[in-house]
Amino acid sequence: MPELFSEILKKEEYSQSDLVVLLNAQGKDRTALFTHAAGIKKQFVGNKVYFRGLVELSNICSKNCLYCGIRAGNPKPDRYMVTEDEVLDAARFALENGYGSMVLQSGERCDDSFVATVTNLLQKIKELSNGKLGITLSMGEQTEKTYRDWFDNGAHRYLIRIETSDRELYYKIHPNNKKHDFDVRINALKMLRQIGYNVGSGVMIGLPFQTIEHLAGDLLFLKNLDVDMVGMGPFIEHEETPLYQYKDLLWLKKERFDMSLKMVAILRIMMKDINIAATTAMQAIDKQGREKALKVGANIIMPNLTPVKYREDYLLYEDKPCLDEDASECRNCLEARIHIAGDEIGFGEWGDSKHFVKRTSSSKVD
Ligand code: SAH
Ligand code: SF4
Repeated sequence: MPELFSEILKKEEYSQSDLVVLLNAQGKDRTALFTHAAGIKKQFVGNKVYFRGLVELSNICSKNCLYCGIRAGNPKPDRYMVTEDEVLDAARFALENGYGSMVLQSGERCDDSFVATVTNLLQKIKELSNGKLGITLSMGEQTEKTYRDWFDNGAHRYLIRIETSDRELYYKIHPNNKKHDFDVRINALKMLRQIGYNVGSGVMIGLPFQTIEHLAGDLLFLKNLDVDMVGMGPFIEHEETPLYQYKDLLWLKKERFDMSLKMVAILRIMMKDINIAATTAMQAIDKQGREKALKVGANIIMPNLTPVKYREDYLLYEDKPCLDEDASECRNCLEARIHIAGDEIGFGEWGDSKHFVKRTSSSKVD
């Protein structure tokens, strides 16, 4: 006799085939999954949501990921780099508004001038905030030395999505060359952990050629890697990218959204004490997407603090929301949304993942 959904849901460990069943949940089963995940979230991470003020530092990128609107090969966007003063204004806003942390995200560049600019920004943000603001970086693959320098200068979390954990699929969504090497990306995650960062990863959901089995594999991959943070959300096609040619193969946007909710919920059950972001891509498909993600397990939100004039040029995907809302409008809107979701905001706290705190405090000598 096939196992009951409720029996699978309560298991301590999920196998690949259990995950496929959970990801396919519909109707009452889907509701049971979401209720269970909400309970786990409450029990293990509580109902506090932490803000990370996001600055999209630059859309200059040396890579050509086939899905991304700011890939080097797209001539359309005006390329920009946010100035130091503008980054520091954002840092001041974050501090004054009780956001405990910032995220600096950027297209991938490894040249000395870029690396030095980021190091300098880290120092300045730390100085301005008296060390109070936590800093997450999302700048792709760098050398070990760069990761170390940035860590030594104050960055303590790093996000690098694996995008898909399936090697074959990885090369369907990236050019197959040295600059887009699956093993280099995996190795980056390992290096970051060794250096001492809170390490975040994640995947896109609903990619062309992606199956439910791939997504089940992604969940197991994140679990095996023992990540501290996850950001994942729907793939959204962008007309000026090579993957757009497969738009007719894609699941409906609302199906990609629903699958993303299930991925968040299942991951929360599998990795009870990590930080999971309610991503902007979820809001791009459903206006209440982030609140829905909070309800089923997410606990991190990244309000956009990028100066409005640059936002049109940081379109990784279509329909990106809040293109014209400045930071203070964004704050008001978000607070209301979080209360609607039944959560509260962890003002002024770093909100590192409990998972990170646990795994590092047990190995500390002092
Ligand atoms: N250059 C860095 C960080 C910026 S890109 C890096 O690649 O790691 C940040 C994330 O945007 C990527 O990891 C990817 O998951 C997401 N992204 C890019 N294009 C997207 C698309 N079309 N749909 C959904 N997410 C996308
Ligand atoms: Fe560049 Fe990141 Fe976009 Fe890839 S996903 S093209 S590395 S910005």
